[in-house]
Amino acid sequence: MIRTRFAPSPTGFMHIGNLRTALYEYLIAKSNSGKFILRIEDTDQNRLVADAEKIIFDTLEIAGLKYDEGPDIGGDFGPYIQSQRKDIYMKYALQLIESGKAYYCFCDKERLDSLHKKNLSYDRHCKNLSTEEIQKNLAAKIPFVIRQFIPDGQTTFKDEVYGEITVDNSQLDDQILIKSDGLPTYNFANVVDDHLMQITHVVRGCEYLSSTPKYNLLYDAFGWQIPTYIHLPLILDENGEKLSKRRGAASFQDLLQLGYLPQAIINYIALLGWSPESNQEFFTLPELEKEFKISSLSKSPAIFDLNKLRWMNSEYIKKMPFDEFYAAVLPYFKNSIKKSDLDYKQLAEMSQTRINFIYEAPSLFDFIDKLPDYDVNLFVHKKMKTTLENSLDILKIIIDKLGNLSSWTQDDIKKSLTDVVNENGLKNGQVFWPARIALSGKDATPCGAVEIAQMLGKSESINRLKFALTKLEGN
Ligand code: GLU
Repeated sequence: MIRTRFAPSPTGFMHIGNLRTALYEYLIAKSNSGKFILRIEDTDQNRLVADAEKIIFDTLEIAGLKYDEGPDIGGDFGPYIQSQRKDIYMKYALQLIESGKAYYCFCDKERLDSLHKKNLSYDRHCKNLSTEEIQKNLAAKIPFVIRQFIPDGQTTFKDEVYGEITVDNSQLDDQILIKSDGLPTYNFANVVDDHLMQITHVVRGCEYLSSTPKYNLLYDAFGWQIPTYIHLPLILDENGEKLSKRRGAASFQDLLQLGYLPQAIINYIALLGWSPESNQEFFTLPELEKEFKISSLSKSPAIFDLNKLRWMNSEYIKKMPFDEFYAAVLPYFKNSIKKSDLDYKQLAEMSQTRINFIYEAPSLFDFIDKLPDYDVNLFVHKKMKTTLENSLDILKIIIDKLGNLSSWTQDDIKKSLTDVVNENGLKNGQVFWPARIALSGKDATPCGAVEIAQMLGKSESINRLKFALTKLEGN
């Protein structure tokens, strides 16, 4: 049974790279009828941020990445929060001391700082303390850490994405496994937990590649089976730099706030390092579960292209079932457009294919509440065969015609404008173009003169048409 885990540290917002890791772990588990586990890695107490756990839960829920075991739902391998597993790590660290694969280190900060200043890794000063010295120090409550003893030789391992990697052990330091506060480092806890939680596939960012030999030496020291490793390439921005908050959106929360839909984000993120066998670009989560293959992961850095995500978002908006879109867009209309008695459903229908973000919809209708300042030359349109002169004459006829209407439905308005065309031997564009410019003050609107007139109501429409006359006359 394949078991994967998402193991975030609760240090703030969910970075795009972390969400991609979670997604791939989820997909690897789900595409193999396996289990996806959530584990909170909070052993670095200095980096904890309030509410960060909630952000993790919320993110996975919004993204639709349901886990099978985790802190809030339990499971057979809990607790799933590392700070609640303190005793477990200590027990295993002591076992390593027993077998000579780890040792107590009582070096104080000054000593370590001076090594650090000289750019030296730990010099094994405490490696050969006698049992008596160790006991004496422990009894005197001298603060200590427990370090891994790295043996001579080479360590080779296979990563599913990066292939075979060999590292000379001389490049690895005797890293700390248990810190002076009694809590494990990430480097130790991840190995112990991945083993105890029976994790088969470890997915994480490629920044962990260089530490992996140390983890493997730990697995070997315990006689545990090494998991399958899947390290993921970096995600870079359009300038080839590491994604960061400073250079724009770097977290899931940022993107949601900017108006990206969760499904669009997930779809886009799925493609940052993985490519399907076909040219398909749009995937629902269940489709990804079917298609995802570890062998199609790439080791070249992925480029996070906001323009592409924006486009994808607009496509997702187009694909939304209308009722869902309408429910999402309605509050924006209600909040942004003051005029009441509008047919919001109609506005929604006209918006769905024209926006990148749902919140943009009201801006398509910004002319309703207030006629924008517009240039009189908008009336001139070669293809529509309109000029400043004929627009002036035609608008006069339109005002006359519409002014006589007693009922103001779209059918009535349309019939009147069509009558103006027919009765005066004009082209459609010569009537509808100037009418729309006069009513909206814009040359691009999501609907035509008829709909706009109906939205505005009779008196406002006539006012705007008359205002256009004064503009044209004053020209
Ligand atoms: N807690 C680590 C992090 O947030 C997890 C790395 C891993 O998945 O092993 O980066």
